[in-house]
Amino acid sequence: TQAKWGFIGLGQMGYPMAKNLRAKIPDTDSLIVYDINEPATSRFVEETNSLTGSGGASVIVAQSLQDVAHVSDTVITMLPQPKHVKTVYEEFTKTKLKNYSDRLYIDCSTIDVKTSLEVGSSIRALGHDFVDAPVSGGVVGASAGTLTFMLGASGPAALRAQPVLEKMGKRVVHMGDPGTGIVGKLANNYLLAINNLATAEAMNFGIRLGLDAKKLANLINCSTGRCWPSEVNNPVPGVIEGAPAGREYSGGFGVSLMAKDLKLAIAAAELADAKLILAESARKLYDDAEETSTSFNIATPSETTIAAETLT
Ligand code: NAD
Repeated sequence: TQAKWGFIGLGQMGYPMAKNLRAKIPDTDSLIVYDINEPATSRFVEETNSLTGSGGASVIVAQSLQDVAHVSDTVITMLPQPKHVKTVYEEFTKTKLKNYSDRLYIDCSTIDVKTSLEVGSSIRALGHDFVDAPVSGGVVGASAGTLTFMLGASGPAALRAQPVLEKMGKRVVHMGDPGTGIVGKLANNYLLAINNLATAEAMNFGIRLGLDAKKLANLINCSTGRCWPSEVNNPVPGVIEGAPAGREYSGGFGVSLMAKDLKLAIAAAELADAKLILAESARKLYDDAEETSTSFNIATPSETTIAAETLT
């Protein structure tokens, strides 16, 4: 049978994920894409059509969310914030999804647990599966198809979602029931938020005390301070080839997304009465950075008094 796939949200992450999905599905299937940002869908169609010498599933741009809901057996959403996820799934539930049987909805956005559970219940009430499957690996992982998915789903829904996610990533970790994928993601990103700042501070003070940036990074990366920001996303330009710092901090994990995830983690921790002592000062730093800059410009050695005063 010819399957119809829906993909909503062709942003930094969704675009390459949808591209990888298309490459892995049979040529006879079709992929229906939708984004409120029209240039993203036009670019996607243009780019995938230019690949069609080699065949591949056809790509259709949906005119509305309802179009996607009507035709797609499996829908993947990759949207910025809880409010966007809510809006999109509310639209879906208006489309008489009851008339269709047993569809699968996969939300890969990083949102809060409550919204995800609410959206999931509304979809399950109409007889379909909904799973939360936020990702780790950034734009690089999305493009290379090496993402890690953190899956919150019932056993049967997890079995259904796994092969779909494997088309866009390398690892799928089933954390438990609905909502637990998001808890895993928020715990991870809390650690990332802190490590970003600590790496910038450590690099800055080492450099100011006379160390060569590359030498310092190499040392940290074979010592106990090693972490993703030191090793992959080092904030000092020129230290790691291909890192956003080397291209004026463009194309990385945006500071507003980091600030959003940190706030989601703080809210989730409050619900569980779990202490996050470093969270408050980190939140302030990210908020200040968001006000003054759109990129994660945290460590140009010559101009940083990093973290202590400002992040730009
Ligand atoms: P993005 O802002 O680049 O892309 C989001 C896309 O959703 C945009 O193209 C936007 O136009 C579209 N959109 C917004 N509202 C919509 C609606 N109502 N209907 C249809 N489309 C809509 O964001 P991103 O970087 O791709 O991130 C998406 C999610 O993935 C976020 O929750 C983020 O926290 C998470 N995430 C991002 C990264 C990263 O490195 N960028 C890494 C891991 C997880």
